[in-house]
Amino acid sequence: MLDLNSLLTGEVNEISFEREYPLDGVSADILTGKCFAKGKCVNYSGYIEFTADLFLEYTALCARCGEEFGGKGEMNITYPVAVKLENADRDQDEYLVPENGKLDLQSICISSVILNLPIKFLCGEDCRGICPDCGKNLNQEKCLCNRIKGDPRLEKLKDYFNKQ
Ligand SMILES: [Zn+2]
Ligand SMILES: [Zn+2]
Repeated sequence: MLDLNSLLTGEVNEISFEREYPLDGVSADILTGKCFAKGKCVNYSGYIEFTADLFLEYTALCARCGEEFGGKGEMNITYPVAVKLENADRDQDEYLVPENGKLDLQSICISSVILNLPIKFLCGEDCRGICPDCGKNLNQEKCLCNRIKGDPRLEKLKDYFNKQ
């Protein structure tokens, strides 16, 4: 929780924070990871803004080759903070609304991470993936499936070569 009471009462103009949260359960493709959040809430004469930089470090499964790899990510989030919503139905997605002067920092950070995660995790842009014919990880070894495909005379050789 981030206590904004001293900001809301005008005692201070800025509250900064640094926190670290686990990325457990954020995505089925992320095995372990951490989100480091560094940010602040600033009161600009009545308009309160929340900004944070989120740094991610995780171990994920590559969507193409299925191998574990270490990945990193970075994102910046900004939200206006409203003490009270004029139109609760319309505004609740855009504004952060403190409860008893406190913001649930972890849920703000984690839900922003979920919104910004890549659709697919890849160990590298050039990951060659798994051969659909022989199942080899093409980043680690070559297979002859592609070259042989379409040539019936060579089809028979495929199993032989791939066993080498
Ligand atoms: Zn991969
Ligand atoms: Zn193959």
